[in-house]
Amino acid sequence: MPGKPPKRSGKRKRPVTVQRAASGEEGPAAPITQPHKHCFNCGVSIPVDRDICSDRCQAEWDRMLKRKKLMTYLPFIGIALLLLFYVLILAN
Ligand SMILES: [Zn+2]
Repeated sequence: MPGKPPKRSGKRKRPVTVQRAASGEEGPAAPITQPHKHCFNCGVSIPVDRDICSDRCQAEWDRMLKRKKLMTYLPFIGIALLLLFYVLILAN
């Protein structure tokens, strides 16, 4: 009795990556495990290909980064000013 040849019913190639979301059921509700990110500025859920939800948040985020940068360099600026005063006092 010859064995049945292996059936190859699925012609479509299955993607190697495991799809967590959408396991058959179709509904308006998005799956909870859908990959997403959170807005850097306000924390709202956003698509993975974005970092910030809106132009307004982008502007706010940029301003915050600028301030952060300034705060990083502020001590050095202060030291530089102190040194400058020191040199000026010594010069007299
Ligand atoms: Zn935002």
